[in-house]
Amino acid sequence: MFENFKPLPADSILSLVKMFREDPREQKIDLGVGVYKDASGATPIMRAVKTAEKQLWEQETSKSYVALAGDPGFSDVMVDLVLGDSVARETVAAAATPGGTGAIRQAFELIALANPDARVFVSNPTWPNHVSILNYLGMEYVSYRYFDSETRGVDFDGMLADLKEVKAGDVVLLHGCCHNPTGANLNLTQWQAVVDLLNETGAIPMVDIAYQGFGDGLDEDAAAVRLVASSVPQSLIAASCSKNFGIYRERTGILMAVSADASQRGLNQETLAFLNRQNFSFPPDHGARLVTLVMNDAELRADWKAELEDVRVGMLNLREQLAGELQRLSGSDRFGFLAQHRGMFSRLGTTPEMVTKLREEHGIYMVGDSRMNIAGLNAQSVPVLAKAIIDVGV
Ligand code: PLP
Repeated sequence: MFENFKPLPADSILSLVKMFREDPREQKIDLGVGVYKDASGATPIMRAVKTAEKQLWEQETSKSYVALAGDPGFSDVMVDLVLGDSVARETVAAAATPGGTGAIRQAFELIALANPDARVFVSNPTWPNHVSILNYLGMEYVSYRYFDSETRGVDFDGMLADLKEVKAGDVVLLHGCCHNPTGANLNLTQWQAVVDLLNETGAIPMVDIAYQGFGDGLDEDAAAVRLVASSVPQSLIAASCSKNFGIYRERTGILMAVSADASQRGLNQETLAFLNRQNFSFPPDHGARLVTLVMNDAELRADWKAELEDVRVGMLNLREQLAGELQRLSGSDRFGFLAQHRGMFSRLGTTPEMVTKLREEHGIYMVGDSRMNIAGLNAQSVPVLAKAIIDVGV
């Protein structure tokens, strides 16, 4: 059996990690991997999470199973965090999943279960795992235009034109905020146009929200997903706690199914639990419990929000510093998009050759499509990056 395995293409980000590790240059800069890093290059455990972990260690008396959909208390705090009061709680079915990736996988399986003919429309580009999981599941997907390589913003006319091809029952996958890998996002007027199109066509939105709190703020980053959930009859939402709670390895995420018709919720909830049962049975609990403890304790919650806000503002400052430095060096505003982008990533929009040159000649590591992790920078490395960008002729 094993001899039937085919070698898989190397993961481009993991190869980059290896190359970076083996690079002896002291001034090398890692803008590759998608985890938050502070100015010293560390990915810290957030203060409130650490405190919650201590409390949990003292208070938890059993490691017995919880429930197929996870702890209902976790669902409550997450529905509140993501959806606020945009929809009635009794219209939302929710199940904990292993990370945001688990939620995405379960959402795709739910789509295939409900409508094997559904096509999933994905932005071009999108997070590569979206496409990879769809391929693995043998599901049909269609790319819609998204990134304008001239302006490095959203090609909104192209996006809407491509989305006009959706049919009732198709699914449109949207990044709730902080688009990965481009950093370019729709404004709320554009989101409303997408919502109108969904309502005209009967296509169903699936919102992937993995960076709430990394863009413009917790509520601001959730404004689009709240607009969508409250404006269409049915929606799917896959949320990750990996980034905004800094609990990557705990695998904490949630899938929500929102239905305008509250009487649908019971069946939705049963289906989410069924899908968990088939794939991994009970979802991981540790990270979910930490999130629940933090969110239900006013002091911890306030401290978490304050630390997350520092992370967000830190990344925004780096964006502005980089855009400013590039304006100074190039004498033009053509890098202004870096300050407009939101979240951890920006697509620089260069050729793969320039990405190679940045790595080989300047020790600057970014993904081949020129995605940079802004959190990989600090005040000292920004001028180094800016100079190198100009040097390779971007
Ligand atoms: N969705 C997007 C767009 C992401 O970038 C990520 C992580 O990189 C995820 C979902 C899922 O993250 P995780 O499975 O680590 O929670």
